[in-house]
Amino acid sequence: MAGAPSAAPCIFCEIVARRAPAFVVYEDATTLAFLDLFPFTRGHLLVIPKRHGARLTDLPFDDQTALIRSLDEMCRRSERLAPDYNLALNAGPAAGQVVFHAHFHIIPRYGESNPFHPSARTRIDDAEAQQLVRELSAP
Ligand code: AMP
Ligand code: ZN
Repeated sequence: MAGAPSAAPCIFCEIVARRAPAFVVYEDATTLAFLDLFPFTRGHLLVIPKRHGARLTDLPFDDQTALIRSLDEMCRRSERLAPDYNLALNAGPAAGQVVFHAHFHIIPRYGESNPFHPSARTRIDDAEAQQLVRELSAP
């Protein structure tokens, strides 16, 4: 019998290493931002540290600081799409975390009547994603 299966690689580490595709809009030495593949709204972004840590508090403080700096930049860019947005960080399964590599969501809001009501999510359309990359990747 073969040995025990190895743990699946972390999908966000795979994106950082460019072994998995993503619609990247920002990168620096320690952080990356890309479009959520199943967006809640148009332009839903994820901002992540390159270093793996399941939670924000698993990261060295310098990485946390760098992440907040990138978050600031990406919030400003998000305002190109809509002035209002939600920032979210889900820590742990009970909080809805499904990818255990720390990340912030930036979710632009366009006047939905109840922003916290779960809505059906479909995979981002490639042409739409490429348009968003053009809108959000300019400094
Ligand atoms: P969370 O529930 O906070 O762990 O959110 C994880 C997010 O990652 C979800 O909104 C997913 O749609 C998103 N996601 C999962 N896999 C990918 C991927 N390969 N590329 C982009 N976003 C992803
Ligand atoms: Zn990871």
